[in-house]
Amino acid sequence: MESTVSNNLSRRLIQSADNHLAHTYTRFPVVLVKGDGCRVWDIEGREYLDMLAGLAVCNLGHCHPRLVAAICEQAQRLLHVSNLYQIEPQIKLAGLLCKRSFADKAFFCNSGAEANEAAIKLARKYAKEKYGVNRYEIITMTNSFHGRTLATITATAQEKFHKGFEPLLPGFKYVPFGDLAAAKAAIGPNTAAIMLEPIQGEGGVNLPPPGYLESLRKLCDEQKLVLILDEVQTGMGRTGKLFAYEHYRIEPDIMTLAKGLGGGVAIGVMLAKDEVAAAFGPGSHASTFGGNPLACAAGIAALTIILEDGLLDKCRILGEYLMLGLVKLKNKYSFIKEVRGQGLMVGIELEFAGKDIVDACLNRGILINCTMDKVLRCLPPLVVSREEVDRALAVLDEVLDNL
Ligand SMILES: *Cc1c(COP(=O)(O)O)cnc(C)c1O
Repeated sequence: MESTVSNNLSRRLIQSADNHLAHTYTRFPVVLVKGDGCRVWDIEGREYLDMLAGLAVCNLGHCHPRLVAAICEQAQRLLHVSNLYQIEPQIKLAGLLCKRSFADKAFFCNSGAEANEAAIKLARKYAKEKYGVNRYEIITMTNSFHGRTLATITATAQEKFHKGFEPLLPGFKYVPFGDLAAAKAAIGPNTAAIMLEPIQGEGGVNLPPPGYLESLRKLCDEQKLVLILDEVQTGMGRTGKLFAYEHYRIEPDIMTLAKGLGGGVAIGVMLAKDEVAAAFGPGSHASTFGGNPLACAAGIAALTIILEDGLLDKCRILGEYLMLGLVKLKNKYSFIKEVRGQGLMVGIELEFAGKDIVDACLNRGILINCTMDKVLRCLPPLVVSREEVDRALAVLDEVLDNL
């Protein structure tokens, strides 16, 4: 009886979604209504192990009590005021991020795409002011992903995101990810910046070849280019360091963060060194909601929890544990071409499309994802336990065995 009622409710909601939501996603027929740690429940009461964390957003797991408390407390005090005034949580979060990174200045916004928009605008303005009005071109990488606004789909060097939206923004040039010589050859009198993800996410969890990021940094120094790192997915502990660039002994000039920054609350930020950030003055850029008290209170709590609960170490240890299990699966199933990743950002490349595997995992209570058609992706909360990783691996093994 109970389950029939919830079953009908579920069906009605999904019908309503079909009627009233833009059809921009191919959604699973599952209505998720509750979360706790690495578990979520659907409206019919079925439990799932979340190995996706809202796509690298819920790094602290779902409804971490200290994050929830910080949000409730701030909601009772002050939700929003204009950036025409000083905003206490925004100032504090900027201070924390600058202290923990290469950066001197922060600009807050509400998403990854917006953070990248800010980065593109700042790089152009800085390069034009410093080196001349012809310096506006930005070099980006094949299989990159930088967001869905017009500027950021242009920065995204994947045709499937461009189709139907032309004309794109002028001033971008694409080179293969990992190919230093191609980047060198692409630099011309108009080049202002190189922009890339240190580890590509949507493009298939692609790690940079050894020395690549270090060489790009050197190239930018020699050619007086701005190096922009998009850490929207890799940032906030996802790879086992607070920021992925820390694995490579380099620092960017500009970095963007979003997904994990608010632990589940919408917030993005562009961070920059003083030299570059100085190109933005009053009126250069703005966002009504950017850096609002609620989002920043969540950001402060999320960052504090990552550091105080030792989640960077946990991420490294559990990431290695997950990778070990996946290597075993790779040795068992010849159709797994490669497993790769850093920390808890892990991809499993198959010889065929992975959609059916994702569906079968969902039916057995495990949430994973597939990108670039053939790359299964695990982005669990950084609080995931050994037992939970074991369960995910066991289900994946079962699903692969049944193929
Ligand atoms: C998700 C993502 C974005 C876009 O973030 P939105 O918040 O969806 O705008 C940009 N860059 C990278 C690397 C991402 O993974």
